Amino acid sequence: MGLDIRIDLPRTEQSDTYDVAIVGAGPSGLTAGIYCARGRRSTVVLERNMAGGQIALTELVENYPGFPDGISGFDLADRMKRQAAQFGAELREITTVASLQPHEDGCFSITTDQESIRSRAVILSPGVEAKRSGIPGEAEFIGRGVSWCATCDGALYKGRTVAVVGGGDAAVEEGLFLTKFADKVYVVHRRDELRAAKIAQERAFANPKMEFVWDSVPRRVVGDQMVEGLEVQNLKTKEVRTLPVNGVFFYIGQIPNTAFLQGVVERDEAGYILTDELMRTSLCGVFACGDARSNPLKQIAMAVGEGALAAVQAQRYLDQLECPLPAAGGQRPAWGGPTVPAASGERPGSGGAGDTPTP
Ligand code: NAP
Repeated sequence: MGLDIRIDLPRTEQSDTYDVAIVGAGPSGLTAGIYCARGRRSTVVLERNMAGGQIALTELVENYPGFPDGISGFDLADRMKRQAAQFGAELREITTVASLQPHEDGCFSITTDQESIRSRAVILSPGVEAKRSGIPGEAEFIGRGVSWCATCDGALYKGRTVAVVGGGDAAVEEGLFLTKFADKVYVVHRRDELRAAKIAQERAFANPKMEFVWDSVPRRVVGDQMVEGLEVQNLKTKEVRTLPVNGVFFYIGQIPNTAFLQGVVERDEAGYILTDELMRTSLCGVFACGDARSNPLKQIAMAVGEGALAAVQAQRYLDQLECPLPAAGGQRPAWGGPTVPAASGERPGSGGAGDTPTP
């Protein structure tokens, strides 16, 4: 069930208008919430599931500074959530955002499956979700042997055999986690070299329960009531064989949760939100951070740094209302800085005079 944490803060202007609405309560959104609430801005954080995002589904986080023995992803998420609430951020979970709309008065409305929320600034941190392979059987066997979450479902495979698909950090780390339960874990990877961090690779290669199926892709999940096998094809030899597994965990990458932003802010071809180096999107008053932002590194440390920067910039924006005047025709302008509107078509952060932040 969703949890509403409310601590009353003075709201500026209209009592029904938040200073900042944050979409997504993963590490970046919760960090932005901590910073905005500590800045005494009325802040609401909207989350479609439970707070924590991807890390809440991660068994052990070993590379976030300050936890030399590692910390469970769930615990880390819970700490961030409590920290944001403690400073006054309102957190609304199980709330799916359907649209974001700018208004001529400078405010935004965010429509969720439950309500409409007004805010003066917006921070987008909607995160990512697991990419589907689309192979036959994947959708049919969801909940009956197909999963994207070893932390959630791993214990169901005690003494059994599973396959993980992918060669990145998620596949290798979650595959290692699955060896706590399963007798055997196949790692099906389309190349003969892993993408995962070297330390995870070393552990995986040293684990006798892990068997690597190189140069291979999944073709079909097979079974009757439950998963009974994974058909894989070797891309070099073209040989097809069926691995006898009771479970298949897909870790073949992620897609950003940004469909609701189509036509609202600029995104790259894969759907990741484009910003300048100050986390400003193409829409004045809207900032973005975390895994759904077009950036070169998807890590918790990166996400919290981006969340902090987005929050600081959002507060500067609220202090100074840095948008240029609306262009003729009433269209909300792109970022241009406090006095010098960006040249038409110029990307934020491209170095124009209008990109200089005002302290
Ligand atoms: P990822 O790094 O994008 O890896 C996806 C893997 O799936 C790659 O090995 C890729 O193969 C393979 N793949 C992609 N499409 C495929 C397809 N259609 N069929 C078969 N295989 C396919 O994704 P991820 O592992 O989910 O990680 C996402 C991000 O989160 C990464 O930046 C990662 O570093 C980060 N992360 C970090 C940690 C950590 O630091 N502890 C833990 C988890 C995730 P190729 O290698 O051939 O492209």
